[in-house]
Amino acid sequence: MHRATKIVATIGPASSTPEILLQMIQAGADVVRLNFSHGTADDHRQRAEFVREAARQAGREVAIMADLQGPKIRVGKFENGKTTLVPGNPFVLDSECELGNDDRVGLDYKDLPRDLKPGDVLLLNDGLIVLDVVRVLGSEIHTTVKVGGDLSNNKGINRQGGGLTAPALTAKDMEDIRTAMSLGVDYVAVSFPKNATDMEMARQLANIAGAPYGIKPKMIAKIERAEAIPALQGILDASDGIMVARGDLAVEVGNAAVPALQKRMIRMARESNKFVITATQMMESMIYAPVPTRAEVSDVANAVLDGTDAVMLSAESAAGKYPVQTIETMAAICVEAEKSEQSELDKDFLDRTFTRIDQSIAMGALFTAFHLGAKAIVALTESGSTALWMSRHWTHVPIFALTPRVGSERAMAIYRNVTSLHLDTSTDRDTALQQALETVVGKGYASRGDMVVLTVGEPMGQAGGTNTLKIVRVGEPY
Ligand code: PGA
Ligand code: MN
Repeated sequence: MHRATKIVATIGPASSTPEILLQMIQAGADVVRLNFSHGTADDHRQRAEFVREAARQAGREVAIMADLQGPKIRVGKFENGKTTLVPGNPFVLDSECELGNDDRVGLDYKDLPRDLKPGDVLLLNDGLIVLDVVRVLGSEIHTTVKVGGDLSNNKGINRQGGGLTAPALTAKDMEDIRTAMSLGVDYVAVSFPKNATDMEMARQLANIAGAPYGIKPKMIAKIERAEAIPALQGILDASDGIMVARGDLAVEVGNAAVPALQKRMIRMARESNKFVITATQMMESMIYAPVPTRAEVSDVANAVLDGTDAVMLSAESAAGKYPVQTIETMAAICVEAEKSEQSELDKDFLDRTFTRIDQSIAMGALFTAFHLGAKAIVALTESGSTALWMSRHWTHVPIFALTPRVGSERAMAIYRNVTSLHLDTSTDRDTALQQALETVVGKGYASRGDMVVLTVGEPMGQAGGTNTLKIVRVGEPY
């Protein structure tokens, strides 16, 4: 069953054995996410090794994403592990408090009091607890509890409307970037970037840390701050992809604003030739239950219809009871949703102009394959750009991207409707094309009599060199 939408699965305690990882990959995980908000460098190293081993056993490349913690602001710890906040009562957040009690708690971000003024609203624990800021006295933020409940150690804090000054890359993030590069990760996700500069800085650090290992990871901006919304185009231009990080975003901009923002982000990402992941609570109830709710099924299907490249699992696969079943269920929802999707290729193509030869060939191949009713597009690519361009427009024609570079093969793992495969292109052009075709036919994606559209660059082996489009009928003299 061909599935175009990719699945990103976060791994954690529920999914860190080689056996479970193999099952998760076989069930359809295309990208594995290491969440640097939890676990030690050694945990991540061990998990990355298990992922590579499981992928080898499964016989396909799986990409690894390192997701940095970023400046998530948190309360400190409590004497008793937690307190219960009662509406109407006062509560103090104090950056100098060591251990919290029923009246006050500490803060990991010491500058928070300077960012706040009376009238601000603070949302704790993903918005479950709401505090009104009454006054700020030195290190102390005096608040009145508006919505109460249990508050336990290290729960997150957001300000409604955003606007906190914490820099996007903390000292821990910089250390984690170095760890991630030593693990050979394929993507780095940056938490809470405010603007393009945050992404440029993160990319620079990743490229420097990756240089000894010969890697330049793809950079993903997690859109989860109110300020990132007006800065979105700049952030897109500075990134390879974005994540619709609905968890923190919903707290900052309000739940109700998120579905429309999701649609806008996905549209803008595709128009900017970037990839996009839709994340958080997609299959939340499957943390505990073997089946999702109807609403979750609709949520995943609607993200597919919005045009997302990938859907993501967090606690469902990292700490849930059913990591493998969740992936299987999600995959089935994606396949079903894709069937109903209309191609809007002609509308997309009106008024387009190109400046690059490789991009023109990519678009020409897509247009041709769609209108000719070709069974497959086969792109021989070095960097993966050809496949990226093709995959920014939805048609039901699957795209097979063949590359000699393992880094490109993994980078393409997240592109919608792209199946990336390895191909040795150290031969001549015709041999490589013939082998590419045989690979796709051999895997059963096209058979005798089917039309296939191929693209290649000549001379071979140069990134950005695609300049040739060829149409063949499988089984006829080549
Ligand atoms: P997180 O990011 O899971 O790292 O918080 C995703 C989100 O906020 O939705
Ligand atoms: Mn987040």
